[in-house]
Amino acid sequence: MTVKTIWSINHTCGHQADRDLSDRAADRRAGFAEWLARQECTNCWRASKEGDEQDKAAWLKAKRAEEQAESEAWSEQYRMPPLEGTERAVAWGVRCRHQVLAAAYTALVLEAETTETEWEGIEETARTVTRAGWWIDQRSSEPDDLTELLQAATEADRPTENPHF
Ligand SMILES: [Zn+2]
Repeated sequence: MTVKTIWSINHTCGHQADRDLSDRAADRRAGFAEWLARQECTNCWRASKEGDEQDKAAWLKAKRAEEQAESEAWSEQYRMPPLEGTERAVAWGVRCRHQVLAAAYTALVLEAETTETEWEGIEETARTVTRAGWWIDQRSSEPDDLTELLQAATEADRPTENPHF
């Protein structure tokens, strides 16, 4: 008498499938068959996984679009000029500029000693930097470094084109 290798599994999704368990040791098959019976069948599992991935992609896309709209509105409100670069770089650069300047405003004005007048000067300088790639490069910069970074960007007209954009 040998332990059977083909097990008929009733999956939780209601589907039934014959599974070949010959690659499992004979004394492990019953336990594995029980475990399988507590799962969805392969097709249902794959379908739900694909659904999750589509949901996630759609969610990310919606979130990105929302951030983009927010950054565009912010740029208009603070009279930030259009950026230069490829379409993709411009869209990303607008989000980075919004993020960098909002973080700097919080750190320098709300949480430190920078006056509104001084901040307006920083904003004025920020308006002159219109290269999308520059803002993308500064997206992880420290708010405290912004003044120095802007200064470096505006004082020297050196070729600093980022080859990626
Ligand atoms: Zn199924």
